[in-house]
Amino acid sequence: MIFAMPNKPGEFSRFDFPEVLPAPLNGIWAILRNNEMLNWSEKIQFAAGLLPAILGGQAYVEAQDGFTVTDWMRKQGVPDRVTNEVFIAMSKALNFINPDELSMQCVLIALNRFLQEKHGSKMAFLDGNPPERLCKPIVDHIHSLGGEVRLNSRIQRIELNTDRTVRHLVLSNGNVIEGDAYVIATPVDILKLLLPDDWKEIAYFKKLEKLVGVPVINVHIWFDRKLKNTYNHLLFSRSPLLSVYADMSVTCKEYYDPNKSMLELVFAPAKEWISRTDSEIIHATMEELAKLFPDEISMDQSKAKILKYHIVRTPRSVYKTIPNCEPCRPLQRSPIEGFYLAGDYTKQKYLASMEGAVLSGKLCAQAIIEDYEWLAAREKGKMEAVTTT
Ligand SMILES: Cc1cc2nc3c(=O)[nH]c(=O)nc-3n(C[C@H](O)[C@H](O)[C@H](O)COP(=O)(O)OP(=O)(O)OC[C@H]3O[C@@H](n4cnc5c(N)ncnc54)[C@H](O)[C@@H]3O)c2cc1C
Repeated sequence: MIFAMPNKPGEFSRFDFPEVLPAPLNGIWAILRNNEMLNWSEKIQFAAGLLPAILGGQAYVEAQDGFTVTDWMRKQGVPDRVTNEVFIAMSKALNFINPDELSMQCVLIALNRFLQEKHGSKMAFLDGNPPERLCKPIVDHIHSLGGEVRLNSRIQRIELNTDRTVRHLVLSNGNVIEGDAYVIATPVDILKLLLPDDWKEIAYFKKLEKLVGVPVINVHIWFDRKLKNTYNHLLFSRSPLLSVYADMSVTCKEYYDPNKSMLELVFAPAKEWISRTDSEIIHATMEELAKLFPDEISMDQSKAKILKYHIVRTPRSVYKTIPNCEPCRPLQRSPIEGFYLAGDYTKQKYLASMEGAVLSGKLCAQAIIEDYEWLAAREKGKMEAVTTT
């Protein structure tokens, strides 16, 4: 992990997890070797504060969901400087919010990965654009199994039978979809809009009210030259406005360019900025970049010049992991027969992430397979009822 040093503009501090050591020794080594961000007394106080999490395992981690990161650190006697130096950057990277809002459970889940898995801290980039390199192989796989993928066909309504099970889905183009089982894999905010009135008071759906997407902004900037002060890695900016960033001309094969840099930056927390104009956002971003690249970027563009930029606003992204959200995350199998949920917000052991979304899909598929026999019997019953009437 590589962190920018706000008090030494243009410099970085690294946590290197040695390949030769197994977890958790490689993580402990990485922390002990870094003397730029935390001093020895702070490291010892942090380690002592973390001890119950290491000894208490998953049960302890889950029990910390009621605390924000800031409150937990204070409760454990960890100095505020540790939160400011390390956990502002980590909270923003994990959930696009600051440690005074983020649930400590989220940070402990991430730290546990570092301590339990040798490659838990490893970061990887897709080698090209997501539609081609991520979505297309999935679509091809579905086609190869005889499935169909319909684009631009949003679910508009869920219509019910008299017993409150799903009769069919109505799409935005008017088409009706009938199935043996229904899986909704939209973000939680969309699911809440789609919920039929008859389901809204069911506890399983009612507790979803607490899960609300967090706003975040992505900034992409193409520069006229190659920036030198960068790495082939994700970088923690430790800027008050920005979160992580990367020079995609270095980290991603498809965007490789030996002469020009393309930065992708996460702008977070974004609540105060989501409705601002593009030029206000790019102005604020450049102000922060001038601190990260003092020799190469200045606000007036007298150094590196912007060739073009693109701003992507996501007003409701992953669910905001504030304290006491964990009990509100739904299992993939709903109490409605034949109706299932998937998505990173559903119950799974990883965080709100792509990895978490994939795991939720697997758990959902598992639930459907477990229910297969009675789902089939239910459909057979329906067919028989139709033929006898
Ligand atoms: C700026 C940003 C950076 C991120 N960086 C990372 C990262 O580095 N690593 C990581 O692991 N995760 C990252 N994430 C989180 C990651 O993107 C999510 O955790 C993941 O995409 C969640 O997957 P999902 O399938 O649950 O939901 P989504 O990916 O949101 O998929 C939901 C789908 O539902 C569709 N949909 C919406 N409405 C309807 C409707 N009415 N009918 C039918 N379909 C509908 C949408 O079009 C979408 O395709 C990042 C997120 C953001 C916003």
